[in-house]
Amino acid sequence: MTSASMLSGSQTTGSTTFADLGLSAPVLRALADEGYTTPTPIQHQAVPHVLAGRDLFGCAQTGTGKTAAFALPLIERMRNDARQPGARRCRTLVLAPTRELAAQIHESFLAYGRHAGIRAAVIFGGVGQHQQSRAMMNGVDVLVATPGRLLDLIDQRLVDLRSVEFLVLDEADRMLDMGFIHDVRKIVAMLPTDRQTLFFSATLPGEVRSLAATMLRDPLEVKTAPQSTPAETVDQSVYFVPRQEKKSLLVKLLREEATGRVIVFARTKHGADKLHRDLAKAGIDAAAIHGNKSQAQRERALAAFKSPRPPVLVATDIAARGIDVDEVAHVINYELPHEPETYVHRIGRTGRAGQSGAAVSFCDAEERSRLAAIERLLRRPIPARNEPSMAGTSTEQPRQARQPRQGRQSKRAQQPRAQQSRTQQPRARRARVTPAAQPAPVTAAAVAPVPRRPNRKHRRAL
Ligand code: AMP
Repeated sequence: MTSASMLSGSQTTGSTTFADLGLSAPVLRALADEGYTTPTPIQHQAVPHVLAGRDLFGCAQTGTGKTAAFALPLIERMRNDARQPGARRCRTLVLAPTRELAAQIHESFLAYGRHAGIRAAVIFGGVGQHQQSRAMMNGVDVLVATPGRLLDLIDQRLVDLRSVEFLVLDEADRMLDMGFIHDVRKIVAMLPTDRQTLFFSATLPGEVRSLAATMLRDPLEVKTAPQSTPAETVDQSVYFVPRQEKKSLLVKLLREEATGRVIVFARTKHGADKLHRDLAKAGIDAAAIHGNKSQAQRERALAAFKSPRPPVLVATDIAARGIDVDEVAHVINYELPHEPETYVHRIGRTGRAGQSGAAVSFCDAEERSRLAAIERLLRRPIPARNEPSMAGTSTEQPRQARQPRQGRQSKRAQQPRAQQSRTQQPRARRARVTPAAQPAPVTAAAVAPVPRRPNRKHRRAL
C-alpha cells in the first residue's frame, strides 16, 4: 500500500447530509425510505472518495454503517455510467465470508438501489444452486457471494467475472480466519486489473494488511471506532431457555418487567409474524416490522412505536434499520443472531444518550455457540438469569391497559416497573437465581477457537 491517508472516526462534522456527500436524488430517496438522516462517520469519510474512484482500505465493523459506505457510492458509479453487464456477468462483485452477511449486503443493495434500477443477486452455499444460477443468467449490476459457492458456479461456467469493475472484500479478517484466503486469491486473479477495490476488515493483523497490499492501489485508509463495546448503560443478561418455552417467558417478561418501549428481535420474517400473532393472542399490544411489510405498514408501526403508548415492536435485523428512537427501555433477543456484531448493534438500540436500558437474550441449546461468539466479541460473559418473578402473573394488567409513559423530565419515572424494583431490592431479585439449577454461562475460555481452515465440506457450504 502506498501513501495511504488515515482518517479517524471522530473527524466528522456531524452536520454533513447525504446530499453533501454527492449522492443523487434516487439514492437520497431510498435513504429517506430507510429513515436515515445523517451519514455515519465511515460513510462521511468514504463516500466522496469512492465516488471519485479511489480504492479504499476500511477498518470498520458491522454496526458502523459500512455497508452503505460502499454500496451508496458504487450504486452512483454504476448509475453514472449505465452499462449492461452481459449474460452471467456482474459489474460489482462483493465477497463476504458468511451467507448471513452476504444476504444482508444483498438486501442493502436492493434497498439503497431501489429507485436507481439496480439489479442484484446473491449466491452462497448450503442451498440449491438453481435459483442462484438463474438469477445470473441475464447478468446483474451487483453480485454478492461467498467464495466457495462462487468458485463452484464459475467452474460450471454459470458465472463469469470478466466484466467486474468494482470489487468489495468485506470482513477480510474473518475470511482469513475461516480459511478462505486461497479461494479469495483465486477469485481476485480472475478479475480485470483496472477495477476499483474496496477492502474492509474489523481488525488489521499483518496477514490482512499483506492481502490488502496485493489488491489495492494507493488506497485511502479510513478507520472507525470498534463496535465491540456496547454502552455501559445497558444491563445485559441471558436466559437459558428451551425453544418451546421462549414464548411464555417472553409474555411473562413483557407483562412484568419489560414495560417500557421494547423491541423484540426475531431472526426471520416468518418468525417475527408468528411472534406478533402469539403476542396478540396473549393480549399484548404488538406491531411487527420486517422486509415483507409495505412501506406504509412499516411507517405505521414506527409511528405507533414512537407514540407515548408504544406497542411492543417485533423486528427482524434488516427491518430494524432506520429505527431511530432514543428511549428504548428493553431489547429482547428472542433468537440470537448469527453475527455477533449484530448483537452489539441490536442492544445499541437501548441505553442511548446516557439513559439506562436492558438487553435480555433468550438462548436455547442450539444457540450456545452463537452466545459464545457474542461473549468472545464482548470479551466477557453475559450474566445468566432464571425465570422472572411470578408474582401477580395471573392478575397482571395486559400491556395496553398500563399507564401512559411519563415525560422526559423524570428519568426515574421512565424506568420500567421491574427495573425500578430491581433498583430498590436488587438482592431479593438476584437471590432468586440458584446457580446450581442453572446451566453454566458459556465464557470465552470455554470456547474452542475458530478453526483456521475448515474442512472442504464446510467451505463448500458457505
Ligand atoms: P452495517 O454496519 O452496514 O451493518 O450497518 C449497521 C446498521 O446501521 C444497519 O442496520 C444499517 O441499516 C444502519 N445504518 C447504516 N447507515 C445508517 C445511517 N446513516 N443512519 C441510520 N442507520 C444507518
